[in-house]
Amino acid sequence: MAELVSHPDEKKVVSARFGKGAANIDRYLELDGYKAVQKAIALGPDGIVNEMKTSSLRGRGGAGFPTGMKWSFVPKESAKPKYVLCNGDESEPGTCKDRLILEHDPHAVIEGVMIAALSIGAKTGFIYIRGEYRYLVNIMRKAIADAYAKGFLGKNIFGSGVDLDVHWHTGAGAYEVGEESALMESLEGKRGIPRIRPPFPAVVGLWGGPTVINNVETLASVPHVIFGGGQWYADLGTPKNGGTRLFCLSGHVSKPGVYELPLGYPLRKMIYEVAGGIPNGQKLKAVVPGGSSTPMLKADEIDLPMDFDSCAKAGTFLGSGGVVVLDDTTCMVKFAQRVIKFYQHESCGWCIPCREGTDWLKKTLTRFHAGGGLKKDIDNIQYLAENMLGRTFCPLGDAAAMPIISIVKKWRNEFEDHLEGRPCPYGEKTAEQLLPVLSR
Ligand code: SF4
Repeated sequence: MAELVSHPDEKKVVSARFGKGAANIDRYLELDGYKAVQKAIALGPDGIVNEMKTSSLRGRGGAGFPTGMKWSFVPKESAKPKYVLCNGDESEPGTCKDRLILEHDPHAVIEGVMIAALSIGAKTGFIYIRGEYRYLVNIMRKAIADAYAKGFLGKNIFGSGVDLDVHWHTGAGAYEVGEESALMESLEGKRGIPRIRPPFPAVVGLWGGPTVINNVETLASVPHVIFGGGQWYADLGTPKNGGTRLFCLSGHVSKPGVYELPLGYPLRKMIYEVAGGIPNGQKLKAVVPGGSSTPMLKADEIDLPMDFDSCAKAGTFLGSGGVVVLDDTTCMVKFAQRVIKFYQHESCGWCIPCREGTDWLKKTLTRFHAGGGLKKDIDNIQYLAENMLGRTFCPLGDAAAMPIISIVKKWRNEFEDHLEGRPCPYGEKTAEQLLPVLSR
């Protein structure tokens, strides 16, 4: 069981049932569970989509695509069965929020899948849980079985005339499968590598049928949107960035943890008030704003409202909500090397810019940090990363390149400090000392 944290600035919506025993279906019902799905049945498919659009709920997995719009892309008529697929393959370093939802409020995820299915006319939903979260499978398995036992799943749900089945599925542990088309390949029993798009999953998805794929936090937010109303949810956040989200605050902060804050909450306050600031009298050096794939921010760039549009304006992404704080004892060359090591390991190897680019970046950064760096390597590292951007089949290539480009641009001086065989000015640190959350 993960330890829960809290702060007075939190607005608990998705996390409102955490620590209240809501994995038990009777407790979930006491806490207004399965009321939203009944409201959704009364609203009908178009009414559900309208509420979702009004809510401005955007995908919490990283891309931030408007959820209501995504659902509206699914064709009303389809010769093939339609599906809802919940993406619980949470793997972005720095991100550990979906596991809390799956652990503390699994019925909210099931209810979100049900509402999505009602809106698009799907009769089958899948909840895909990453291989490393195997312990959560038992929780989800029981939650689904309990929902069937109560008659909430199966034939004629809530007397609506709609039949709906939901299944759980587990992966084998691959970051790449978090990409939606690779997720579908994996669920179909194939190797988890991406598909060429278009066609997009809303039209041709699982087994060729129209498919809605949403992240765990997105789907767990859906019952709250329907129960409280789209406008209520939208008003919690900023324009076009409705609601709250779970921010995972980690790295060099005094009170790391997963906190639910309204979208638009200031990053500075998040670090210095919610997470208790930087320990041991150290100063802030850098922030990963939304998981390890997002361009990094310097200490003087943190006066930033944390919503999708403000982050984009600042040249980065809100991403998956994984905020990693680095203090001034961190070597940014070593950090870059540690980040690329992860992506090189996780690259599926299908396309050359990602397969070769991550490998060469890892080799060069490893040599560079060990004191074997040449001046021309600095430009080469940037050139290599820039040539991966936008040239790969799936976003992993961009995910690997973007943090490296930002580090070279913003901390070039640290690369120069390592030249001519000079030892790392920050000393050799183990991966664990450098950043616990990236030590995987
Ligand atoms: Fe595979 Fe990387 Fe290409 Fe994605 S970008 S398809 S992970 S090689």
